[in-house]
Amino acid sequence: MAYDFDLYVIGAGSGGVRAARFAAGFGARVAVAESRYLGGTCVNVGCVPKKLLVYGAHYAEDFEQASAYGWTAGEASFDWATLIANKDQEINRLNGIYRNLLVNSGVALHEGHAKITGPHEVEINGQRHTAEHILVATGGWPVIPQIPGREHAISSNEAFFLKELPKRVLVVGGGYIAVEFAGIFHGMGAQTSLLYRGELFLRGFDAAVRKHLAEELTRRGLDLQFNADIQRIDKQADGSLEVTLKDGRTLMTDCVFYATGRRPMLDNLGLENTAVALDEKGFVKVNEKYETTEPSILAIGDVIGRVQLTPVALAEGMAVARRLFKPEQYRLVDYRMIPTAVFSLPNIGTVGLTEEQAREEGHEVQIFESRFRPMKLSLTDCQERTLMKLVVDARTDKVLGCHMVGPDAGEIVQGLAIALKAGASKRDFDETIGVHPTAAEEFVTMRTPAA
Ligand SMILES: Cc1cc2nc3c(=O)[nH]c(=O)nc-3n(C[C@H](O)[C@H](O)[C@H](O)COP(=O)(O)OP(=O)(O)OC[C@H]3O[C@@H](n4cnc5c(N)ncnc54)[C@H](O)[C@@H]3O)c2cc1C
Repeated sequence: MAYDFDLYVIGAGSGGVRAARFAAGFGARVAVAESRYLGGTCVNVGCVPKKLLVYGAHYAEDFEQASAYGWTAGEASFDWATLIANKDQEINRLNGIYRNLLVNSGVALHEGHAKITGPHEVEINGQRHTAEHILVATGGWPVIPQIPGREHAISSNEAFFLKELPKRVLVVGGGYIAVEFAGIFHGMGAQTSLLYRGELFLRGFDAAVRKHLAEELTRRGLDLQFNADIQRIDKQADGSLEVTLKDGRTLMTDCVFYATGRRPMLDNLGLENTAVALDEKGFVKVNEKYETTEPSILAIGDVIGRVQLTPVALAEGMAVARRLFKPEQYRLVDYRMIPTAVFSLPNIGTVGLTEEQAREEGHEVQIFESRFRPMKLSLTDCQERTLMKLVVDARTDKVLGCHMVGPDAGEIVQGLAIALKAGASKRDFDETIGVHPTAAEEFVTMRTPAA
C-alpha cells in the first residue's frame, strides 16, 4: 500500500524533532504534528526556561559577594516581570528556530492535536494522513495529587508564567525539579520551604551528595522539611493559602508548587484504536528498538518513561531515524553513564554509579572524597563548601562514578562523562594534569582513599 508519509511523528519536542529532521535528511517523507509549542517541554516549560531562571537567581549571591572584591553597586533589586518577559522573548526566538529547522529539512509541519485512528493512520485538523510508521513522541505532563484544594496549587507549567514573584512559596517534592525551583524562588528573594515526604530528597543520587546539598541549602536559608506532606490547601479571604500537613501542622504561604511527578501525555491520542500496550506505570511499552506492541507504531522520550531527559530523547529519536532509514548507521542507545546535573544553587553534577549502587552491584569499592571552600569564596564571608567524590573499583581500578556538589558541577561533569565512557581508570585520572587554579582539578588530585 502507498502511504502519504514514510514516518508520521506525533509531538515536536526533543525526541520528535530529532527523529523527524534526521529521517527527512535520510530521504524519508516525514510529517510532524504539534498541538502546543514547537520544541516541546524542554524549550517551553522545561530545561531552557528553567536554566534561565536559575541564572537569574544566581545574581543574588554574585551581588552579595562582589563587595569582597572591591565592588560597590547601588542597592540591588529584582523585577520578576522583566525576567519573565525576556525569557518569553527568548523562547519565542527558539520556537522560530525549531520551525525553520523542521521546514528547512523538508518535514511537513501539521499544527494541531493528532489522534491515531488506526495502525497506519493519524487524524489532525479534520484530515486523515496515512504513514508506514507512526512515532509517538508526546512527552509527559505534571501531576498534582488529588488532595482537597489542589486547584490552588501550581505545577512547573504555570510557574514559568507567574505574573509576580510570590512572597512565600511552598515547593512540594523531592526530585530535581522541586529542588531546582526551590533554589530559584529562594534565590529571587521569596521565603521558600521545600516539603518532601521522604527522609531526604533526590533519591537515586549518591547519599553523600544528597546530604551535602541539604546542608548547603539549609546554610543558605532554604527551609527544608523532610517527612512532611500536605493534607489540604485552603484559600483565605486575603488570597493567601493555609496548608494543613498530614502531621496536623499548618503553614501559611502564597504559592504551593507541586513537583511530585509526571505522567505520560496520552490524552485523546487514540491508542484505543491500536494494539499499543502500556506498562504497569502507564507509560507506552516498547522493546529495545522502540517498537510498541503495534508493529507500525514506535514511541520514544518521556512517554516511554525510561530516562526522562532531553539528551536521552534526542538519542532515542536519532536511533529510530537511523534504524528505519539509514540502518548502516544504526546503533543501540547506551543507557549507561548518562551524565546529569541538578541546577540547584549550588549545582549537582553526576555520572556513573553512586557508592550505594556500586556496592549493590558487588564491586569492591574505594572512595575518594574532597570537601573544600571554592577559591572564589576565599575573600568573602560565604562558608559554602564544594564536594567531589570518586567511586572506584578497587580490583580493576576503574572509575565507576564521579559526583560533585558545587559551582558549575553540571559543566564539569560533562568532560568526566567522556572519560568514564572511555573506561578511564583511577590511574588515568591521577596521570592527568590539572588545570590550575580550578575546582575541577581536584578530580585529578585526590590521592588518598576515604576511610
Ligand atoms: C521543569 C522541567 C525541567 C527540566 N529540566 C531538564 C534539564 O535540565 N535537562 C534535561 O535533560 N531534561 C530536563 N527536563 C526533561 C525534558 O524536558 C524532557 O525529558 C524532554 O522534553 C522529553 O522530550 P520528549 O520529546 O519526550 O517530549 P516533549 O519535549 O514533552 O515533547 C512532546 C510534544 O508533544 C506534543 N504533543 C503531545 N500530545 C500531542 C498530540 N496528541 N498531538 C500533537 N502534539 C502532541 C506536546 O505539545 C509536546 O510539544 C525537564 C522537564 C521539566 C518539566
